Amino acid sequence: MDQKQDIRALNKEQLRDFFVSQKDKAFRGNQVYEWLWIKGAHHFEDMTNLSKETRKMLDDHFVINHIEVDDMQLSSDGTIKNAIKLHDSLIVESVLIPSKSRTTACVSSQVGCSLNCTFCATARLKKMRNLNPDEIYDQVVAIDKQSRLYQNHKLSNIVFMGMGEPLLNYANVLKAIEKITSDEGLAMSPSRITLSTVGLPKMIKKLADDKVKFNLAVSLHSAIDEVRSKMMPINKKSNLAELLESLQYWYSKTQKRVTFECVVWKGINDKKKDIEALVNYCKQVPSKINLIEYNAIEEDGFQQADAKAIEYYVRELERNNIIVNVRRSRGKDIDAACGQLANKKGE
Ligand code: SAH
Repeated sequence: MDQKQDIRALNKEQLRDFFVSQKDKAFRGNQVYEWLWIKGAHHFEDMTNLSKETRKMLDDHFVINHIEVDDMQLSSDGTIKNAIKLHDSLIVESVLIPSKSRTTACVSSQVGCSLNCTFCATARLKKMRNLNPDEIYDQVVAIDKQSRLYQNHKLSNIVFMGMGEPLLNYANVLKAIEKITSDEGLAMSPSRITLSTVGLPKMIKKLADDKVKFNLAVSLHSAIDEVRSKMMPINKKSNLAELLESLQYWYSKTQKRVTFECVVWKGINDKKKDIEALVNYCKQVPSKINLIEYNAIEEDGFQQADAKAIEYYVRELERNNIIVNVRRSRGKDIDAACGQLANKKGE
């Protein structure tokens, strides 16, 4: 068994202290930190500004746990789906979504998911474990590299809409975002990061209390409890009223508008009463709506609503002065679209 510690669990101060404990200079800690977090080194021998002895000494004490892009699928629309292998051989998926002027990384926060949304492919995988901060951070670094290579510009946006529920891995997700936004990491603006959640009221309030600077998206899908509970079992534990109260609290603390994500399914939430409930719900907290296309999952029996129903949604929302965007799916041909991340390859 490997008893060596993962060096990436140490922060910069601890790295500096380690070198001092080895009767070496504290600034070596900064050098190693830079190799690990800015240059993305995966092996001590790559750290060429350290002496051979120092590299050997590090190798005796530590391992560098890191992710590996195990498989990469390129969609006809430029979307790239990565199967990411973790140090314990579990797989998560991360997606590069290109558009004319920007590249968005869609990253995972957990291996599998525990929430059982009926329409989501990831729900069919058992939740295995949370991702560590560095495993989340590394997905972003990998997609940034791909963006530079395939799009000729760096990564511009991040969405936590891959596998898992980010608010059930709260501390690690926040640590990863801290590093992504830090000058000692990728120096990305938090305004370009969106965390998407099923909507856990307690954790949304915690985000607000922690005064986070990134954006919040909530998978709403329906503003009628009975309908939402059928699609998202979590709604039986915390209903729409509780969710709304937490979002009002979020807004009062952050002054940030919430994005609601809604899929419109045929025969489920495509009627007048569904739209009325949604309009009424949205009016109670500063928000906007993304209508997302449904990506069919094998044998789930759900179907995207007719174009007419979607047009009706848009018209009614706009008539009520609610901002609405219709989001087209990307990467469908490689099962990289929302809710399709389920490690199909290798099954
Ligand atoms: N757990 C988080 C993030 C992962 S899901 C959340 O629920 O928000 C990311 C988004 O994809 C959510 O809005 C989710 O509702 C949506 N989604 C899941 N399955 C989908 C599917 N089959 N088609 C379209 N969107 C789907």
